[in-house]
Formats: sequence, C-alpha cells, structure tokens
Amino acid sequence: MSSLPNKHESAMTVSRDTLLGLNDYSIRKLYSHELQQRICELEQANAALRSKLQEHEQTQRALEASEACRIRVFESSLIPIIVMDYETLRFIDCNRAAAKIFRLPSVADTLHKTLIDISAPFQYDGTSSQEKMHAYIQQAFLHGEVIYEWRHQRPDGELWDGEVQLMTFQAGNRYLLQFTLRDITLRKRYELQLQHLATHDELTGLANRTLLLDRLDHCIHLAHRASQMVAIFVMDIDRLKVVNDSLGHSCGDQLLCAIASRLRKQFRQADTLACMGGDKFVVVLSDVHDIDQVLHVAGKINTFFEQPFPTDSHEVTVSASTGVAIFPNDSREPEQLLRNADLAMARSKKLGGNMLTFYSPEMNQRIFETLELENGIRHALQREEFRLYYQPKVDIKSGKIIGCEALLRWEHSKRGLISPLEFIPLAEETGLIVPLGSWVINEAMRQGQLWQQQGLPPIDIAINISPRQFRQGNLLNIMKEGIRRSGIDPCRLELEITESVIMDEPEKACHTMRELKQLGIRLSLDDFGTGYSSFNYLRKLPVDALKIDKSFINDVTTDSSGASIVASIIGIAKNLGLQAVAEGVEHFDQLYFLVGCECDSYQGFLFSKPIPADEFTTLLKNSK
Ligand code: C2E
Ligand code: CA
Ligand code: CA
Repeated sequence: MSSLPNKHESAMTVSRDTLLGLNDYSIRKLYSHELQQRICELEQANAALRSKLQEHEQTQRALEASEACRIRVFESSLIPIIVMDYETLRFIDCNRAAAKIFRLPSVADTLHKTLIDISAPFQYDGTSSQEKMHAYIQQAFLHGEVIYEWRHQRPDGELWDGEVQLMTFQAGNRYLLQFTLRDITLRKRYELQLQHLATHDELTGLANRTLLLDRLDHCIHLAHRASQMVAIFVMDIDRLKVVNDSLGHSCGDQLLCAIASRLRKQFRQADTLACMGGDKFVVVLSDVHDIDQVLHVAGKINTFFEQPFPTDSHEVTVSASTGVAIFPNDSREPEQLLRNADLAMARSKKLGGNMLTFYSPEMNQRIFETLELENGIRHALQREEFRLYYQPKVDIKSGKIIGCEALLRWEHSKRGLISPLEFIPLAEETGLIVPLGSWVINEAMRQGQLWQQQGLPPIDIAINISPRQFRQGNLLNIMKEGIRRSGIDPCRLELEITESVIMDEPEKACHTMRELKQLGIRLSLDDFGTGYSSFNYLRKLPVDALKIDKSFINDVTTDSSGASIVASIIGIAKNLGLQAVAEGVEHFDQLYFLVGCECDSYQGFLFSKPIPADEFTTLLKNSK
C-alpha cells in the first residue's frame, strides 16, 4: 500500500519513490486532498484575522470615544485644571473653569501665561511666590502630589486665595505639572478674621498679649543674631477708673482708642504696639543699636500724654506709669522681659504715677522678699506668732490711764519682734489683713474682758481697723460675734478708722459706722489731719474722737504753724462735741502745750511705749 503523506508532512516531503510509484490520477487525487485541506486552513486563519481586525477597530473606536469623552470632561469640568511645562512653567493646556477663575476671556488667552503671571508677588508668610513655588514643585516631584494654599492675582490686580493640588507626570520625554484649583478666598477671609480676633485687642485693634509675645520672641531672635537690643515699654494709664466713673465707660473706651490711634501715628510700622486689655499699652522697639535710641523713645513717651485725647464729649488728659526693660540686659526670655517691664511700671505707679522707670534687678529681689513676707504672715497666723501690745491712753486732767490702744507685733522665730509698719501694708494689699484683723479684734476683746474680770479699773480698748477690713462688709458680724464670745461690754470698745477710708465712699462709710455704733461701740478718726477730710462730712460722721497725728505733735514746740494746727484740731473737736486725743507725746513741753489747749487725752512714749499684756496688767494694778 502506498503511504500517503501524513497530516504533518507537507506535499514537498512526499518521497521520490512514492511519486515514482504513482500515476497522474493518483497524484492529482493526492494533491487535491492536500489543497483542500490547506484552503480550509487558510480560510480559518483568514476568518480569525478578520475577527481580530474587527475587534481592533472596535477598540480603536472605543478609545476615540473615550478620548473625546475625557477632553469633554476636562473642558467642561467645573474644577479648574491647568497643565504646565515643568521647565518654563508655561501653560500647555487648561480648561474653561481655569480661564474663568483667572478672569481670562478664553482658554486661548491662558496659553501664553506662566505660573508667575497668576500668582501674587508674595505669599502669606511674606516669602516671594517665585521662591515658594519651587519648593512646592520639588515636593511634588518627591511625593508625586502636594496640596497647599496659594495667594493668586488676577490681571486687574485683585488677589484671591486658592487651594492647589499639584501633581507631576511624564509625557514622552517631557515633565509636566498638573494643577487643580479651588477658590478658598471666603474661607481664608474668615480664617484671617478669626486669627485677627484671636491675636488682637477687640477695642483698640492693637496686638494682644499672645501676638505681642510672639512678636517679642521674633524680635529677640533677630536682635540676638544681629547683636542688637530690643526695648519693651509698658504703659499703664493712671486713674482710668476716675474717667470711667465720672465720664462714663463709653468715654473711657473712646479714650483708649484715641491713645491707640496716637500710638500708631507716632511709632514706626516695624515697632509692635499692643494693648493688654484694660488700660495697659505696650511698645516693642526692635532694631535698637544703642541705648540713645531707647532714651529718645523714653523722652517721646514722656511727652506722649501731654496733649489731651479727643472723645465724643470731652477732651481728656491722662498720664501713664511706664516701665522699660531691655534685651539682652534685663532678660533673654520674652515672658520674663515683659514681666520685668511690668515690675518697672508698677514701681512708677507706686511712686505716684506719671513717670517712667527702667527695670533693675533689685525689683525682682523686692518681689521675692514680698512673696516671702506674704508666706511668712500666713504661717505666723497658723503658728500663733502674733502678739498684741498695749499703749496706755492717759486723761490729761487727771493723769489717769483711761484706756489703751492695741498694737500688733509679730514675734518672728528668727528675726525677733517685727513692727506692724513692715507687714501691715502687705497684709492689706494681699487681703491677709482680714483674718489677721479678726484675730486682733478677738484677742483684744478677750484681754479686755480678762482685765475686767480681774477687777482692774475699767478701761477702754482701741482697735485699729484697716481700710480693707472696714470695707470688707462682715466687720459688723465679726464685732457682734466677738462681743458675744468674750462677754465684754461694747461700751469699752473703740475702733480707730483712718479718714481716707471714709472719704473714698463717704455715704457707704457712714452707713457702716452707724451700724457699728448701734452695737454700742465708739469710733475715732485715726491720724487726723493727714488726709483730706471734708469738714462738711466731719459734721455728719458718727465719730466720738479725733486722734491728732504724731507728726503734728512733733512740731508743737518747735514750729508755730505746727502749734496752730494742733490748737485748731482741738478747737474743731470741741466744736463738734468730739474727744481730742494726741498721739506720740514724747516730751513734757508737748504735754504742757496740750494742757493749754485743753486736749482731752494723750498717748506717747512720755507715759509709756506699747507694752505686752502682762506688763500692762502690772501698770494697771499699780495705778489702782
Ligand atoms: P497708729 O495707729 O498711728 O499707731 C501709733 C503708732 O505710734 C504705734 O506704732 C506706736 O507704737 C507709735 N507711737 C506711740 N507713741 C509714740 C511716741 O511717743 N513716739 C513715737 N515715735 N511713736 C509712738 P506701731 O505700733 O509701730 O504701729 C504702727 C502702725 O501700724 C499703727 O499706727 C497702725 O496704723 C498700724 N497698726 C498697728 N497695729 C495694728 C492692727 O492691729 N491693725 C491695723 N489695721 N493696723 C495696725
Ligand atoms: Ca491707731
Ligand atoms: Ca495714729
């Protein structure tokens, strides 16, 4: 049997022997079969190719449709999109929304623009846009994408704020930048308004404490690098309360605004001006090369308040207490520098106001000592280190002890006996006088009742009441409770009040005094003659005695005017039906003078210094 080429053999591989053994018919038959098969195969391949081609055409059409769609989406998107060349920063393409946001008539108008053309010259932190944008582009290259806020500028110069998403991509061998923008002008405006509110004084619009410290920190940093100085002036308006009380708060507010406005006019833009709420203004001078510059400004501040300030209803003249501290001498820390200027200001205030004081390290030392003293007073109360000494009050006619004044002493474990002059003013300032004063009241009553129980001659006890104690409101209750607890007869008690306390708020003071008198207590005006008593009020005051101040008694024998003052005070007391008590009598000739003027009683070293309770008991026993 002839062997036919199998399916895998081509016609050409039919062997010569096979061919020789075949006739024409057989050959034709053999090849026609082969051909049929080939044709069939070719047709199949052709069909497959055609289907592939169709598929390709379909894909191509789909791609074209998608591209058209993409272009349409890009062009019609409401989100502004721009494509730029990385090298030149020139626009390559952008959509209509982008042209619109830049206020350009068409997309074509944008194509000759660059990123610089649409940016504001400077960004929020003051850096030039050119410098800043390169930093962002580098970041985008590093991370593929960066989002940031950018200050833009329109062709007419109008500034607007945008949030930018910047991406980088490669097209062929070209690097491109894609910007997507969002207008955030409104949000930014609100943000800035909020930021302004958080960093500025609401009334005057000047920087507040937060911004002041921030700027001060910045100034110190720059001054440190340039070996320069920074000076800080703290000005506290003197007696603004008087303006508020007499002319009204609205006038006070207008005054503060007028001061702020004058400050703005008289200082450089580079100087920071702040208002720390209330009536405290601050000026920070940067770029200070020498102390003369500071002195020049100090002179300027001294004359700053000379001219009156206009308000709607009045021209108001005020003064200020000013304190100055300088970097690096007075501190290198912003907060400490401000605190030191504050201390210097407080010193100006203490010395009467309307003056300027430079900070000195002793001020800090004084504050430290004050704090120590304040703590000491608290502990002394707990440790019962306070004592009452008693100074006899002597009747001038009979020479007998008719009373005493209770005077406070602090028996300090290390320092010995401390005078009240050293700690009473601080106790008054800190409010510690209230518990301390209550202790004095109760202790004096306890001692007075004890003397009565011991059968000693009845004497009056005078207790000093400080201004704060008097105004505190519960003095009446403290007195009532003390009288109840000690059992002392209230007619033996006298409270010494200074005239300044009464003159501050005469009506209120009179009311309190009347309430106290209803308890049966007597009242006297201490240090009489040193304050500004109005004789008109004196007539109405429910007081029983005037205590003539030691300073007048000192002069009665050496100075004729001193003598006539004392004689007049005694005359006034007599006219008003009050007792006259002379304080600080040290010499006989002073006593003779008082006898001549018919003064009622006296206290002083001539008879006795203030002495402890047991010594006073002996004195009373002996006088009996
Ligand atoms: P003051 O009320 O004017 O008391 C009279 C002061 O003059 C007392 O000083 C007394 O020791 C002193 N003195 C009396 N006679 C003479 C004298 O002949 N010559 C001289 N040079 N001085 C004389 P002290 O005890 O040092 O008290 C000073 C001030 O402290 C008192 O002045 C009073 O304002 C205040 N003080 C004393 N104790 C208390 C208290 O318990 N409460 C309050 N709030 N203040 C008190
Ligand atoms: Ca007194
Ligand atoms: Ca006195």
